[in-house]
Amino acid sequence: MNLVEKVKEEVVNIAHTIYKEALVFETWGNVSSRPTESQVVITPSGIPYENLHFVDMVVVDIDGEVEQGRWKPSTELPLHLAVYKARKDIKAIIHTHSIFATAFAVSRQDIPVVIEDLAQVVGGPVRVADYAQPGSNELALNAVKALGQEGNAVLLANHGLVVLGKDLSTALQRCRVIERNAQIIVWSKLLGSSFILEPEEVSLLRKKYLFDYGQKEQGIKNETV
Ligand SMILES: [Zn+2]
Repeated sequence: MNLVEKVKEEVVNIAHTIYKEALVFETWGNVSSRPTESQVVITPSGIPYENLHFVDMVVVDIDGEVEQGRWKPSTELPLHLAVYKARKDIKAIIHTHSIFATAFAVSRQDIPVVIEDLAQVVGGPVRVADYAQPGSNELALNAVKALGQEGNAVLLANHGLVVLGKDLSTALQRCRVIERNAQIIVWSKLLGSSFILEPEEVSLLRKKYLFDYGQKEQGIKNETV
């Protein structure tokens, strides 16, 4: 199996996982990863997740020309390509419509850091990009602008969440952690106020996670992107 085929398999597996975990529904949301600097494997447009197979994955070049696949790529291809062009450190993107993160996107409120896991694996609050229509170049530009060179995730106003990673498993973990953090904030508001962690504390938690967490003696390193 060559690298492109391996990445196709990873993308389809992640697509099934986010569907099973209700981070997406029906045909909305999309997943991509780039096996090389100039190629992107992305889910097709409008195919239900349950019916998605390895052979349905679409391979495009970095300018969006289809190289392999029988379907049209996701309508959010411009967003994926714009992020890859802006961020050489990124190899995977997951776009979800998960409910609690999307509630923040609809309220056009950043998701603040209230628990350690968001500080650790995302490294800060999840910002909201300016509104633009789904699938538009403007949406892609707004997302890239809000992400900057450091952001690992961004909310699309009145739409959903986009998460980046050096690989798909890192991006998936971030999707889960962001959704959980968003849900906890909503529930905590029923009990009164939510106390938000100070930026200095968030930064310390992130550093500890990057340099101290896990089994260093066995050579396991944490995410550095
Ligand atoms: Zn979407």
